[in-house]
Amino acid sequence: MAEHGSVKSTASGKVALVGAGPGDPDLLTVRALRLIQQADVVLYDNLVSKDILQLIPEGCERIFVGKRRGNHTLPQEAINELLVRLAKEGKKVVRLKGGDPFIFGRGGEEIETLAEQGVSFQVVPGITAASGVAAYAGIPLTHRDHAQACVFVTGHLKNDSMDLDWEQLARPSQTVVVYMGLHGLDQLCHQLVAHGLDARTPAAIVQQGTTKQQKVVTGHLESLPRKALEAQLQAPTLIIIGGVVLLHQRLSWFDPKTGVA
Ligand code: SAH
Repeated sequence: MAEHGSVKSTASGKVALVGAGPGDPDLLTVRALRLIQQADVVLYDNLVSKDILQLIPEGCERIFVGKRRGNHTLPQEAINELLVRLAKEGKKVVRLKGGDPFIFGRGGEEIETLAEQGVSFQVVPGITAASGVAAYAGIPLTHRDHAQACVFVTGHLKNDSMDLDWEQLARPSQTVVVYMGLHGLDQLCHQLVAHGLDARTPAAIVQQGTTKQQKVVTGHLESLPRKALEAQLQAPTLIIIGGVVLLHQRLSWFDPKTGVA
């Protein structure tokens, strides 16, 4: 229903930047589901699970704007511009993003362009990977006996190195959650030990948490890189470091084969 050049159609289009959670469709918010069901067009990337894509109604246009490591399907500016164009055509646009749009999701960049262009938008928070993955792996991110703080960092490599504040990360009594860290796992564990953490600090890496493909590999800073390699993990993976990882043995409850009743 494009009404080119009409002020009315420009005003009626809007964008919802929606967090899709970590994978299990039951972890979508009620609002996320409602907006997906009412959308004219949904833009999504590779972190959004197949089970969630199945909730998009037939007749709703789907556009894959995925980014895979080293292979950007659409540059970020093109995604930003596409959102603006679709909204100005009068469409109800849902921009679905894995996890929470404001946590390592470039959500801020996308709505900045919308704000500049006067397109109306809303942001729907989602369950970020750290929360979802930790819950399904039975690893509380904080615990009075183990961690009084929890930090989220990105382990994304720039020119093959991780630019992180190692001093701050290598502190006792805190949980460190690393997004996008698989390719730098070796370096991450090495640096944390070099900056003072015990080599036997518990650590876990979780593949495709909350889904049927979930796999939890636990060890400590010294052993985790080797164990992760042996397990041949598939992206996405999340790394959790700290004493809380020990609780996994007792608190693990999710069986990926049977799912959640
Ligand atoms: N906005 C997202 C994060 C995007 S960055 C969020 O809030 O969760 C992408 C990274 O998120 C992946 O490299 C991985 O580290 C993590 N991730 C997302 N979903 C995950 C899942 N189901 N299991 C494990 N890690 C996940």
